[in-house]
Amino acid sequence: MENYKKIIEDIYLDVKNVNDIGKVANYIPELAFVDSNSFGINITTINKESFGIGDFNTKFSIQSVSKVLSLTLAYKFEGAKLWERVDVEPSGNPFNSLLQLEADLGKPRNPFINSGAIVICDVLLSHLENPKEDFLEFCREVSNIPTLEYNEKVAQSEKSSGFRNTALCNFIKSFGNIKNDVDAVLDFYFHMCSLEMTCKELSEIVLYLADDNFTTHKGKRILTMSQAKRVNAILLTCGFYDESGEFAFRVGLPGKSGVGGGIVAIHPDKYCIAVWSPKLNVKGNSYKGMLFLEKFTSKTASSIF
Ligand code: GLU
Repeated sequence: MENYKKIIEDIYLDVKNVNDIGKVANYIPELAFVDSNSFGINITTINKESFGIGDFNTKFSIQSVSKVLSLTLAYKFEGAKLWERVDVEPSGNPFNSLLQLEADLGKPRNPFINSGAIVICDVLLSHLENPKEDFLEFCREVSNIPTLEYNEKVAQSEKSSGFRNTALCNFIKSFGNIKNDVDAVLDFYFHMCSLEMTCKELSEIVLYLADDNFTTHKGKRILTMSQAKRVNAILLTCGFYDESGEFAFRVGLPGKSGVGGGIVAIHPDKYCIAVWSPKLNVKGNSYKGMLFLEKFTSKTASSIF
């Protein structure tokens, strides 16, 4: 950890002063109220050693990063059958695109673009009695953080402006790949995306993807080793919208970004690292977040390649 700590401090100062060419997401009106200069980092190793710097203890909207958790829960319920409903291929298209769905007959390319995550929400709705409460409970159990919450304002803000997601959900339903009521699926999806966490919490909640021996405080495993391998593979190939190749090229770790400016990256058998900086590049990924992680894996020589 001492080695990581010094490197993180140095890169933090370096990247903090870089001219940020990104822009805060405002298509969900509530997200635009964030302090755009926020910048935080936290690393947690599989031995539970942790180090944070900057705004690492400030909660932010994790948005699509929550899709790692929803996929995990759906995978636990369905096992390999899940892949009949959603594929595991990079899309090469923007996260909210409707384009490929027509040709693919309503089967989304992967669980991390919006269409795929909406199908995953539908799967969860078929399994959970009280979807919003039960999913939150799952996140609290995995992280051992009982204070995790949705941000109702963000959820409502997205509900009132989520025209593309509404279109996606209806379109997929027309192919028969949404089984539940469209409004119920979307309400769950918007709440899931509104989850708030700090960088510290985010780096802790995905430890089950880094540590083969991970169990919750109640002694439960989250995924089998084979399942965790597969989720990491989808994160590497599909976790960064149509910039997943670029992230693998520059950073070299499985990970997931969200339009709230958060990124979490996983080094299997070593650590999880979360970065938050709200200004996004044109592809929707945190500009400084990607820059920080590129420098971090280069200086520590700790990518998976
Ligand atoms: N709730 C956002 C949306 O559906 C999530 C997008 C993201 O973070 O990629 O547009």
